[in-house]
Amino acid sequence: MTFHATVLTLYPEMFPGPLGVSLAGRARDEGTWSLEMVQIRDFAIDKHRTVDDTPAGGGAGMVLRVDVLAAAIDHARKGNPAAPVIAMTPRGKPLTQARVRELAAGPGVIVLCGRFEGFDERIFEGRGVEEVSVGDIVLSGGEPAAIMLLDACIRLLPGVMGAPSSGAEESFENGLLEYPHYTRPQEWDGRTIPEVLRSGDHAKIAVWRKLQSEIDTRSRRPDLWERHSGARVQPASGARREKKD
Ligand code: SAH
Repeated sequence: MTFHATVLTLYPEMFPGPLGVSLAGRARDEGTWSLEMVQIRDFAIDKHRTVDDTPAGGGAGMVLRVDVLAAAIDHARKGNPAAPVIAMTPRGKPLTQARVRELAAGPGVIVLCGRFEGFDERIFEGRGVEEVSVGDIVLSGGEPAAIMLLDACIRLLPGVMGAPSSGAEESFENGLLEYPHYTRPQEWDGRTIPEVLRSGDHAKIAVWRKLQSEIDTRSRRPDLWERHSGARVQPASGARREKKD
């Protein structure tokens, strides 16, 4: 089954970009996923092909017009009827690995990329559009956010990642950050690989990794830890805290 991605943007030339190389690029060549670009400007209704207008109520910047967006979405839905429509916006629900998993298990996704001040608010309810943010940062456009979303989905598609198990222990898959990794050389700049990882004792290594994963999540991401443990976060005894210089 092919995962169909449709991207609505004013800058289709930004794609496939990073999605055209490495794992994602190969998977696209193999037909694991497909990409259709829709130029939002093609759905403008005036002779100047205007896609934006000044914000109601005044203020800086320009807002993407709801009628133009609706026409572009309606067109995209015809080509990708079963896929959810997701708008990239810092006002959206933060993207999670759990949502990425759901999307990757589905027929695909229609992604709407904003520009300027963003979208006319009426598009979301009016066309059943899900609002998603990729973090508490402001990008100049939704395209890099769309690439993030698609990359995260594509790597989960069957056959894309070499070893199927390499996804299972990854950060966020069990609500925790992954344990830290090391590889040769054994000693670098006076720093060594933790002894246990060279012991060959797989049970001991598993225990160490689980503990590191918990310690790091607790100190670096108390929000994740709180959700994971279902408890209020206490000051972490034994947790490795980053030293502030
Ligand atoms: N005025 C808006 C920001 C607009 S940034 C606000 O303050 O909320 C322009 C476009 O970049 C947005 O429409 C959106 O598509 C994209 N964008 C910016 N930051 C993003 C984020 N954190 N997540 C997803 N999309 C983002």
